[in-house]
Amino acid sequence: MQPQKSRPGAGTAHATTSRSHDNPIDAVLHRLEKVKSTGPGKWQALCPAHDDKRPSLSIKEADDGRVLLKCWTGCGAAEITSALGLSLADLFPGDRRSLHQHGTGPMRRPFDYRDALTGIAHETLVARLIIEAVNSGEDVDADALDRLALAETRISDALAAAGGVQ
Ligand SMILES: [Zn+2]
Repeated sequence: MQPQKSRPGAGTAHATTSRSHDNPIDAVLHRLEKVKSTGPGKWQALCPAHDDKRPSLSIKEADDGRVLLKCWTGCGAAEITSALGLSLADLFPGDRRSLHQHGTGPMRRPFDYRDALTGIAHETLVARLIIEAVNSGEDVDADALDRLALAETRISDALAAAGGVQ
């Protein structure tokens, strides 16, 4: 466990008590240093992946809760998350249980296609991010590969829940 750092703005008007600490943005901001808000859903901080003297890391919270990281000296998202003790998967909202554990298993009726497709879209996004990291030569950690395997499990679970392959 890392010591908790206060989130910028903590104690001011918008307290974050109602938001779960499982939020990707909170997990990321808590671990960064010299965090400064630069606009709604945007921050700047010291990049943990290189010897940063001036904040060169841009952090952005996407509408869907994803965290986007951009280091202006070129550190990759995988390097940055691993320097924070996180993995790429931690940049995504949502719990890490499979769809099966999530209650979308074969026993559940009626089957919710919208839920399942939303889950699959999310898993595809996770896979895309990890593949992009690999493609750009980043050192992808074991957690990211585990997460990729979880994506496949979840999609297979969704298929099973929908009645399996015809
Ligand atoms: Zn950097």
